[in-house]
Amino acid sequence: MKAPDFSYFEAQNIEDAIKYKSEDDEAVILAGGQSLLPALNMRLSSPSCLIDISKINNLNEIKIEGDFINIGALATHSDVMNNDLVHEKLPCLVDILKMVAHAAIRNKGTHGGSIAYGDPAAELPAFAVAMNAEIVLSGLSGQRIVNAKDFYLGLFETDLKSDEILIAIRYPLLDVNQHLIFDEVCRRHGDYAMAGLMAKVELDQSKINNLDLVYFATGDKPNVGQNTAKLVIDDGYDYEKLKKSLASEIDFAGDLNSSSEMKLHLATILINKILNKLER
Ligand SMILES: Cc1cc2nc3c(=O)[nH]c(=O)nc-3n(C[C@H](O)[C@H](O)[C@H](O)COP(=O)(O)OP(=O)(O)OC[C@H]3O[C@@H](n4cnc5c(N)ncnc54)[C@H](O)[C@@H]3O)c2cc1C
Repeated sequence: MKAPDFSYFEAQNIEDAIKYKSEDDEAVILAGGQSLLPALNMRLSSPSCLIDISKINNLNEIKIEGDFINIGALATHSDVMNNDLVHEKLPCLVDILKMVAHAAIRNKGTHGGSIAYGDPAAELPAFAVAMNAEIVLSGLSGQRIVNAKDFYLGLFETDLKSDEILIAIRYPLLDVNQHLIFDEVCRRHGDYAMAGLMAKVELDQSKINNLDLVYFATGDKPNVGQNTAKLVIDDGYDYEKLKKSLASEIDFAGDLNSSSEMKLHLATILINKILNKLER
């Protein structure tokens, strides 16, 4: 199929893009195009205009700002994977991005695009929630920062307002006793996961002091397993107990990859896989 008709505007700066977007509710931002263009070609979306932000300067910078690593919205997945600061300060992100699609897509797809799109099966939204990241948005009334856990509202639904553009994501730097461990189950490398887990673990010696479990490809948005995490800290891994707890706090939704029952099973065993990785 071919995309429906649309007009095209190449923004030279953020102000132009915001102004244009605020004047047309039906216009959408085009970044790397790796999710938007397939959606257009399949006629899942029919915007009036594509506002291309890919030529805006300095939106792809990756830098340290205080206790945060700041990743500009237009940094591609490949830019992030090849960045020295990311390797030094957030090496887990490099491993996560290796699981995102394939090299050709990673060369075009952007960090901001993945976070803004809010695909519940994508790795980065769950990563941002687990890391307690800050999402930097810019609109007609200036900049605002939203915590990642408040940003995702539902299926492909975020807190982005119609005049806003996501310009950066700020990840707090991890302390030496904090670790971000992830795992996922997928049919083939590079496919979207059948279920995946981002776990932020805080250790005191080898004891788990604090644990955040954030799932992807399980429901309509990144799903937090708060009560389940407490059970893991108190009692360790008990398949039946944790499965019951996950079922009571997450609304597992099946998709083309797996049923809701399968996702619940995978979500439970992923906890064991994470704990095994922690012991290594
Ligand atoms: C075959 C295939 C396999 C894939 N596999 C995976 C995978 O395993 N895991 C995974 O996580 N992703 C996967 N992806 C998606 C890929 O990571 C995309 O690059 C990413 O989700 C979107 O980034 P983009 O820059 O291409 O955004 P675009 O396609 O340009 O935009 C996506 C959406 O976000 C909005 N948007 C983009 N940037 C901004 C911004 N700065 N501010 C506001 N709104 C914005 C757009 O308006 C649009 O609605 C896959 C894609 C393909 C085609």
